[in-house]
Amino acid sequence: MTASPERGTPLAELLQALAPPLEYLAADDFRRLDQTRLPLDALAARLARARAGSGGAAAAPLAELSEVFATLQHEPAETHGAALRRAHALLPALREAVGTTPAWADYRPAIGPVEPALAALAGSVEVVRAVGPKRTADLARFGLATVEDLLFHLPFRYEDRRALRPLAELRVGDEATVIGEVARAREGQVGRRGRRVLEVVLRDAGGVLLLVWFHQIPYFRRRLTPGQRLVVHGKVEPPLGSAALRMIHPEIETLAPDEAIVARVLPVYEKPTEMHVGAMRRIVHAAVDEFADRVPSALPSDVAARQRLVDLPRALRHVHSPAPEADLEALGASRSVAHRSLIFDELFFLQLGLALRRSASGQEEGSAFPRSTRLVPALYARLPFRATGAQDRAFAEIEADLAAPHPMRRLLQGDVGSGKTLVALLAALTVIEAGHQVALMAPTELLAEQHLETVRPLAEPLGVNVALLTGAVKGRARREALAGLATGRIALAVGTHALIQEGVDFGRLGLAIVDEQHRFGVLQRAALQRRSAESVDVLVMSATPIPRTLALTLYGDLAVSTLDELPPGRTPITTELCRESRREGVYGRIRGEIAAGHQAYIVYPLVEESEKSALRAASTMVHELAAGPLAGLRLALVHGRMKAEEKDAVMRRFKAGEHDVLVSTTVIEVGIDVPNATAIVIEHAERFGLAQLHQLRGRVGRGRARGHCFLVVPDWTGEEAYQRLRTLEQSTDGFHIAEADLALRGPGDFLGTRQAGLPDFRVANLLRDTALLRAARDEALAWLAEDPELSRPESAALRAVLAHRWQGRLGLARVG
Ligand code: ADP
Ligand code: MG
Repeated sequence: MTASPERGTPLAELLQALAPPLEYLAADDFRRLDQTRLPLDALAARLARARAGSGGAAAAPLAELSEVFATLQHEPAETHGAALRRAHALLPALREAVGTTPAWADYRPAIGPVEPALAALAGSVEVVRAVGPKRTADLARFGLATVEDLLFHLPFRYEDRRALRPLAELRVGDEATVIGEVARAREGQVGRRGRRVLEVVLRDAGGVLLLVWFHQIPYFRRRLTPGQRLVVHGKVEPPLGSAALRMIHPEIETLAPDEAIVARVLPVYEKPTEMHVGAMRRIVHAAVDEFADRVPSALPSDVAARQRLVDLPRALRHVHSPAPEADLEALGASRSVAHRSLIFDELFFLQLGLALRRSASGQEEGSAFPRSTRLVPALYARLPFRATGAQDRAFAEIEADLAAPHPMRRLLQGDVGSGKTLVALLAALTVIEAGHQVALMAPTELLAEQHLETVRPLAEPLGVNVALLTGAVKGRARREALAGLATGRIALAVGTHALIQEGVDFGRLGLAIVDEQHRFGVLQRAALQRRSAESVDVLVMSATPIPRTLALTLYGDLAVSTLDELPPGRTPITTELCRESRREGVYGRIRGEIAAGHQAYIVYPLVEESEKSALRAASTMVHELAAGPLAGLRLALVHGRMKAEEKDAVMRRFKAGEHDVLVSTTVIEVGIDVPNATAIVIEHAERFGLAQLHQLRGRVGRGRARGHCFLVVPDWTGEEAYQRLRTLEQSTDGFHIAEADLALRGPGDFLGTRQAGLPDFRVANLLRDTALLRAARDEALAWLAEDPELSRPESAALRAVLAHRWQGRLGLARVG
């Protein structure tokens, strides 16, 4: 049975007829009431059928809806506005009821051993129809290696082919799907430097639209000959001069001359750049056809019923091939019942695993490091400043952990510049004084070098030997470092994650400090655990300001210390938001900073699914900036496709002052510390989450001079998005901003759901799915309270799936 959970019931039919007019009216705050006529009689008939056919969750909202209808039918017109508002407010409850009533009632849990199915799902994508060796390699590079990876590669957006828009109705700023015929195509040149451009005029019965390409011109020229029919999707941009509205680099699909347009909802997937949108869709669908039914639904039936979930095969089919009558809004916002089911499942197993780990590490044996009497006081005495209250508190918590005979598992979180390094060094000295070694690990070589520069001058005068060990340390230096670590002569090793992963031999490793910046390194922590025989204490540092409640749940297996206070005397960064038509002014300010001897960053975000287009934007921009507004300055480019060493080399030169402006495709190095950089321009700021923007602007204002951040948004950016960004003009408190981010993102804010900088769950999004996260945690804990070792027969499927998930996705050792 492949029926969608949202199809066909009288309730669903009512909703289909009722929701569109109400949404239409609500969009304009019910001002268009007198121009609108609702088909009240037809609606009332549907309502009657729905009330006859549904009970449960639908009963109360349907009863209220009947009252509303009575008002609309019998009361004077001036009462109708309020009544319709009431009806509109009932829609979420009705949607919920439509999605759940029929579905969870026949949730089908996995029966019998699930291991064979799990093994099949872990197989290479190559077994999927339509995937050969070349595509296998492309997909693997893109992070989709197994059948299961494909199944859980959910659409990031849905295209509504049920609602194609006439060209004449398009408005600037719309994101629209249209259909038309190529009237003519013309190659030309634009701008001072004569950039090549392909302009294609698309036309339908009532209007025209200009499609514009700056790249791959010969390719599109060949495909887009006059008469060719196209489905086009993209964002509507304002006209140049008096010409037609435009779409720049739209997505297109060519149609055969007689090909009918099927009214349907089409999923759109992120994909390897070289792969065609349609090919990616076919591949995922082939995987769903062949394998979705084998995905075991391991959640116990009563959990599914309580949480109103559908089984995974059905959920997967629904998100990948929605029925034509599906609720597109729910799908697009990842709020459909199917999405909820997938998300809950993922979070449940996350919480189950974390809970098991927590109970395991509380019982583990570890070394006890007593409070330092020599090195820590000596460091305090030498500091040129006083530790903040927050630093003292965090270190006291860490000292208590270190002194206990169990391994420490602690997260130290604090905003950029809150002074995490000092706290880490105090912890390191405590362990070193007790005769053990410490590894301090950063995500990149450059950041490791930065740490070395910070800690060496503080540690070595105390007689503590410090060494750097990264991939770049070679030859004799490397041999000496390795020997020093093995004999214990070197007490503090600073490096990348390779320090523990590549089997460097520590004589007596006691503490590992992992500076994860904004990553979640469950994987690294797991590697660490596997590597050492006795349990090493672990301190994770993170600069992601995560609201405390969320952090506690998310890092279920870590205790949390928070630096919620900045050292005194900082000059806060000033932040200015502006629309792109005022960008020239921003460039003027940048030139000013550079004339004063400073440096600047310009950041372009990843544009939609394609790293390539962001790269194009950034690399073209470097040329345009160099030729235009920033002529005469020394510009450099870093982008996500460069090798780590190339990136580091460019950043190093920037740090050494050889470049004035660093242009990058996205946040390349969150932790880069260039005190001389005083300005950062972030283009398309509306595409970032507030928390990430806050991190980005933390790149400046690290020296004595005041830092400036310029957030540039397109002219057509809506008022709501604009106001959201204002939070950053008004506050420099990372935690406040993270909370605001969480609270502000309204439903359907798709950009917000793609919050960069948060961990890569396959379907869940921790900021969006907070409520589900809590529910999953409660259910997991409740289940474990009954069956702490998952040893009962009814936990067999849970156990198998848990082992599968944690090893495959989270890489945790020893679960359960
Ligand atoms: P982050 O938390 O971003 O890693 P750092 O540890 O790099 O912050 O510290 C940022 C800067 O603040 C460093 O230059 C450090 O020397 C300085 N710093 C740390 N603690 C204090 C303090 N209590 N008072 C004054 N300056 C401090
Ligand atoms: Mg730091």
